[in-house]
Amino acid sequence: LTGRLTGFGTTIFAEMSALAAETGAINLGQGFPDTDGPESVREAAVRAIRDGRGNQYPPGPGIPELRTAIAGHQLSRYGLHHDPDTDVLVTAGATEAIAAALLALVEPGDEVIALEPYYDSYAACIALAGGRRVPVTLRPRDGAYHLDLDELRDAITDRTRLILLNTPHNPTGTVLGRDELAAIAELAVEHDLLVVTDEVYEHLVFEGEHHPIAGFPGMRERTVTIGSAGKTYSLTGWKVGWITASAPLVTAVRTVKQFLTYVSAGPFQYAVAEALQLPEAYYEELRASLRARRDLLADGLTAAGFTVYRPAGTYFITTDIRPLGASDGIAFCRELPHRCGVVAVPNAVFYDDAEQGAPFIRFAFCKSPALLEEAAARLRRL
Ligand code: PMP
Ligand code: GLN
Repeated sequence: LTGRLTGFGTTIFAEMSALAAETGAINLGQGFPDTDGPESVREAAVRAIRDGRGNQYPPGPGIPELRTAIAGHQLSRYGLHHDPDTDVLVTAGATEAIAAALLALVEPGDEVIALEPYYDSYAACIALAGGRRVPVTLRPRDGAYHLDLDELRDAITDRTRLILLNTPHNPTGTVLGRDELAAIAELAVEHDLLVVTDEVYEHLVFEGEHHPIAGFPGMRERTVTIGSAGKTYSLTGWKVGWITASAPLVTAVRTVKQFLTYVSAGPFQYAVAEALQLPEAYYEELRASLRARRDLLADGLTAAGFTVYRPAGTYFITTDIRPLGASDGIAFCRELPHRCGVVAVPNAVFYDDAEQGAPFIRFAFCKSPALLEEAAARLRRL
């Protein structure tokens, strides 16, 4: 393994899912739903395979039907205009979009500001690009995690190339508000920075509203927005993601994507193009159902003695284990399946300074209510 990736071993998600499989524990670690997405969408993929659509290399940027549907989604929801031919790129999940965007836009030595705790692939991809990660830490206060705009301002130097945002935020569940995004946008314009924004949880917001930063003044030309079908349609195994951006930025990211995967799997693209036409009721139901499951697990974790940061969005609840007399989240998560048959993820791995994240662990609630109730009952016996 090259020096650039020193310290990057197996991802925490693979490690914890393997631990769940080995022990038979309830897996509230890796964030994937235990119920597959809409049958009509799954049928659309089967139909595409049967009808011979996408079984051979689809076009590199993505099939036109999907690019048009993605542009339509950005326009109808957020008023953002994108030409499907030049401003949209289909990727192998958001994961490839993150990698391709950073490899395309970061020069060796450039500084990349990332909200901490950060999704693990950000650190690895900044390192692959030869960039330097500069964390700006979200801190818990009054039951939720908050961004300190002064810390963000102070983190900007003349080496800063881009800000890597994530809202709704994994693992804290924070949804950046309109005022915060406006302030970030002003900083980006003032310092002529690019913004790569990971919005894969855009439809999973339970309090407040999701605002894409691309819609703020001066941002349209400097923002790469990342989306994914995985979370929105409960089909994480399909690995269909995308970016929307101005034509020059899309061209840069597409150039890298060509040499990573060349194209993304064909039949799933036809099915996701159909998924993007689902009625509003689909999204409302998904949100309502996840909100109820968030509350179920949050109440169960509170009853079990954890301090709970109730998330405004995403699939995840971050908790503090100190009320349970523990302070090392990594050790706690390794023992948890053996102690009570539940798997969680330690937030420490999402920090540069693991000490800062040590007492926090994350539980996923994108599971059936019965499973969440059983997990909560097991945790109460801790
Ligand atoms: N970004 C964040 C914040 C995530 O939590 C995840 C995991 N779903 C991804 C990106 C990766 O998404 P995908 O499965 O579409 O590659
Ligand atoms: N995004 C999901 C999570 O945060 C899963 C990611 C993965 O397995 N790489 O748990």
